[in-house]
Amino acid sequence: MEIKITYRRTNRLSMRVVNNGDLHISAPHLTPRCAIDQFIRDNEAWIKAAMRRQIDYNNQRARFYGQLPLGTREQVQAAYIRIDAMIQPMLRKYTALMGVRPSRIVYKPIVSRWGACNKRTGEINFSLYLLLLPEWCVEHVVVHELAHLIEANHGPKFHALLDRFYPRWKEARKATREAVRGGVPAV
Ligand SMILES: [Zn+2]
Repeated sequence: MEIKITYRRTNRLSMRVVNNGDLHISAPHLTPRCAIDQFIRDNEAWIKAAMRRQIDYNNQRARFYGQLPLGTREQVQAAYIRIDAMIQPMLRKYTALMGVRPSRIVYKPIVSRWGACNKRTGEINFSLYLLLLPEWCVEHVVVHELAHLIEANHGPKFHALLDRFYPRWKEARKATREAVRGGVPAV
């Protein structure tokens, strides 16, 4: 674990455990180091519990994504073929319904997000790891990215599009988050 201290305009000490398990402390300017060390000692139980939670979460994520091994070229190629076979029919259905046309569809082995849309170029990216989600959750991601061709931001107009074209979007978003957290195998 690493401890990172940031001095800023604040009048109290605060801390958080970040994704990689490091401890970030925010302190008022000119706080003496001994006061920060005391603050860490006083909160040792909280820090340990927060780190434990972070490690558990990271392990669960690793287990989830590990269900789709992409270490060899054959595995990657097989994943491209499978994901395209799943997503193309969804794209046909929803581009017609929504009256949109992406310029290019790209599949990538990304874990940080399920999809991305560039409204200006019309390009949509999908994560290969969508293969680990139930199809109805994948459908939600497809509609979400297509809706970005109409609305760039996640504002009320964007959510109105989801309400119209994929009314179960909130439920799908929740199920997707739970799938990653719980390492639930794909259905
Ligand atoms: Zn979005």
